[in-house]
Amino acid sequence: MTEHFSLAPEAAGPRLHVAGRSLELLQSVPELAPRYAAHEAVLTLDDVAALPPLAKDDLNVALAHLEPKAERGATWLFQSGGSTGAPKVGYAPTGFYMAGVHAHWRPLDRTDVFVNAWGAGRMWGAHFLAAALADLAGCQVIALGSVGADEYDEWLAFLRARRVTAIGGTPSVLRMWFARARAAGLKLPELRKVLWLGEAWQPQLAEDMAAVAPDARRWGMFGSTETWVVGTNTPDCPADTFHPLPEQLVHAGPDELLDFTTLNPDMLNPVLRYRTGDAGRIVSCPCGRPGRAMRVLGRRDSVVQVRGLGLDVDEVIARAEREPGVARAQVLITEQRGRATGVDVLLLTGRGAAPDLDRLRRELLSATFTLSTAFQHDPESFRVRAADVLISNDRTGKTSNLVVREEP
Ligand SMILES: [Zn+2]
Repeated sequence: MTEHFSLAPEAAGPRLHVAGRSLELLQSVPELAPRYAAHEAVLTLDDVAALPPLAKDDLNVALAHLEPKAERGATWLFQSGGSTGAPKVGYAPTGFYMAGVHAHWRPLDRTDVFVNAWGAGRMWGAHFLAAALADLAGCQVIALGSVGADEYDEWLAFLRARRVTAIGGTPSVLRMWFARARAAGLKLPELRKVLWLGEAWQPQLAEDMAAVAPDARRWGMFGSTETWVVGTNTPDCPADTFHPLPEQLVHAGPDELLDFTTLNPDMLNPVLRYRTGDAGRIVSCPCGRPGRAMRVLGRRDSVVQVRGLGLDVDEVIARAEREPGVARAQVLITEQRGRATGVDVLLLTGRGAAPDLDRLRRELLSATFTLSTAFQHDPESFRVRAADVLISNDRTGKTSNLVVREEP
């Protein structure tokens, strides 16, 4: 079964003692100890595959007990919660493990003028890990962070005047930058590199990039606040395919759920078969780089309960986004005391013909069992409407496919 791992047994073997140490740490957590009691050592990849997977809540229980501290320098606390929900805490040392990333992935060099557009503060990690990468690259950095809706035009003029060559952010934030520049007819002719992390790549972003910065190419990182950067890709790789780092062991289970095991001895979070909710496969990348790559197939936790029935949010989004004139869709569930009072599909419309909202609504309702059944008696509570902006999380800058709102 070792072909379901990102590393061959001979490459993983010398590093598996780190997984063994994570096992010992998890065994020392009273709430988790019974689950790991039958597991004695981690000597082979089969031993890894036999371990129980770790969920976000389990990791937070472990971290609350372990309270890890960096060997040198500061221990940073970051939000390791999801895109919605209350913040949970993950730990990292200064440097954020980016030396290991830089050893294998060098999108930036000393000649670059790099705009760090990941939001800073609020315990969000991406801005700081990008800063650490820029430090290793020795480039010029403009630490912009997130800006308000009315500030884009002014900053775009500044970035153009500074002849920026690189920008990095979550795809949702990058889309704002490129869409605003395109709408204003502004070009960034020197821009060559667009670094991204935090969400799946968005095809619409590539379209706006081509208009604003024809020479710019995408450079992706995949990871989470628990695992930190797991893998990277280049403009030659498909946007959903990443090359895992040698200190990250990626495993694709029989259900295609990915789990991650750190093989980095400096890692503070005991990441051992940790599941982020992403599905994927171990593949070889069409870019031709040797070794195993991981293809991310999207999230498997996209099914939510609506009036007791499972609604596949990604499926609704995909259908809505196939509609001409729809740039992006988002599902908004409104709840009152835990019961769904309404479901809205919000549509960010692009240039060109406006989508036929009534027809799309009727189609979604008739094609989606959960919607037609759950709203049988009040079909008017399922709505499809155009929106000027989708709902983003202020802390993370992410725009997730699903937003749940509680009504008083
Ligand atoms: Zn590749």
